[in-house]
Amino acid sequence: MKPSLIVHGGAWDIPDEAVNACNEGCRRALAAGWNILASGGSALDAIQAAVMVLEDDPVFDAGYGSHLNLDGKVECDAIVMEGATLRAGAAAGLHRIKNPIRLARKILESSPHMMLVGEGAERFAKDSGLALCKPEELVSEAEWRAYLRCKKDKHAAIHHRGHDQGTVGAVALDEQGRLFAATSTGGTCCKLPGRVGDSPLIGCGCYADSEAGAVSCTGYGEAIMKIVMAKTAVDFLRHDSRSGENALAVAQTAADHAVKLLLQRGKGTGGLILLDRRGLPAFSFNTPRMAYGYVNPDGLFVTSV
Ligand code: ASP
Repeated sequence: MKPSLIVHGGAWDIPDEAVNACNEGCRRALAAGWNILASGGSALDAIQAAVMVLEDDPVFDAGYGSHLNLDGKVECDAIVMEGATLRAGAAAGLHRIKNPIRLARKILESSPHMMLVGEGAERFAKDSGLALCKPEELVSEAEWRAYLRCKKDKHAAIHHRGHDQGTVGAVALDEQGRLFAATSTGGTCCKLPGRVGDSPLIGCGCYADSEAGAVSCTGYGEAIMKIVMAKTAVDFLRHDSRSGENALAVAQTAADHAVKLLLQRGKGTGGLILLDRRGLPAFSFNTPRMAYGYVNPDGLFVTSV
């Protein structure tokens, strides 16, 4: 199979001054993932590597530099899903995990469950050998300043460099046909402590089925949950029987239809990336901008904001 990789850094009103950093972040994420895939490595390793780059980059809302909740704390969620088995590993409400995608993977690989939250998730992380960090190590200066502005004034997107969202995600297919999707987020800014959005929920923020395709979503979580957007997009892929030269159009139509439904029925904004089961990429969004990147058939990195 020809490997394939697509990543995103969130669908939101990305201000002009953040465009370069978002493009650069997506490029570095592609490089980390593609290094693995191009040398015959696994899709799971590739999406972990790509998502970790995005989590570590404070321009995105995941891991370090995530938006703060109403208590001024980072509270992260993440998921990874395997297309062959339909198994997922997901974690939510994390305060002390530097790279939530690593914990999601541990849950996928070595827990009998598919989702752990809060203190129990962090205990599982520790027992599995993942180091816990101090909650304040995840707080970037920019987000702390935004939080203080929101406390003084009323919460407003403008206090957060013009954005309310900025989740990250990746979808990869490897040489052996293994298909994985992952999503990682700090959620929405000034959310109520304990709020969980679409991102770590199987079928909402992420879905993978080797028989159809795999998806990672971003956007207004409460709306994405209403239409179970990732699974909806995968089902659009499953039920469109056009093949051959039309396969790329099928992938794009599935992405567009899911995002259209997000607006029509969910009354919300956002976007998604996907690979169909053969690795054909597509993306769609109804926000002013989305940060994304993929590797084209010649092995060149394409990124855009
Ligand atoms: N979907 C995320 C959430 O609602 C936010 C985002 O995509 O930026 O938690």
